[in-house]
Amino acid sequence: MNSKVERFNRLLDLSMDYLEDGVRREHREIEAGAGIRKEDSLTTIEAEIAACSKCRLCENRNKTVPGKGVLNPKVMIIGEGPGAEEDKTGIPFVGRAGQYMDKWMDAIDLKRDKDLFIGNIVKCRPPGNRDPHPDEIEACRGYLERQIKILKPSLIMTVGRIAAQELIGSSSGIGRLRGRMYDYMGIPLIPTYHPSGVLRNPENYRKPVWEDLKAVRKFLDSL
Ligand code: SF4
Repeated sequence: MNSKVERFNRLLDLSMDYLEDGVRREHREIEAGAGIRKEDSLTTIEAEIAACSKCRLCENRNKTVPGKGVLNPKVMIIGEGPGAEEDKTGIPFVGRAGQYMDKWMDAIDLKRDKDLFIGNIVKCRPPGNRDPHPDEIEACRGYLERQIKILKPSLIMTVGRIAAQELIGSSSGIGRLRGRMYDYMGIPLIPTYHPSGVLRNPENYRKPVWEDLKAVRKFLDSL
């Protein structure tokens, strides 16, 4: 009887050793894995952007605007750069144009906090809202590419000429580029006008933007 109890206890001890060691090993692997993920996380990229001085746009910024939204978004919206409101708050597309863009997204049943990641090609505001220069875009592009790799959006929608030209790799105007689907880093891309351009010229741009938004919705519904 005693020997049976001893054998049972011995077996129990061995099982506990095995389980504890297994748990410890698994824990180490998770920690190691977490380290790898951490290097490539959005938080790490944000911290690098906050400290970045790779181009002259760092000189006059108040806040960097790394982008905001959910992981694996249905749509990643990419503009050219932050404006005055974004520079104040650090949040992308919060000014009048951003509020207008929220209405576009509402119209195709997409919400910022559930379905979208919104960002820009350059993460610091170009002075006076000028276009970002090619060397500034080049300096900043790595952050966007790393974000895209982590986010894995189902679709990219560029807004405005600069973002479309940069990601499509064309010097054509947005009027010529829109109306088709492209590919950027293996992700389908639909270009459209910038909401601030549509606010300035609704007669010309509202209709094509609506066509582009319908194309976005149709693509998402086909997944
Ligand atoms: S725009 Fe981009 S590259 Fe230039 S300073 Fe800001 S984060 Fe760095």
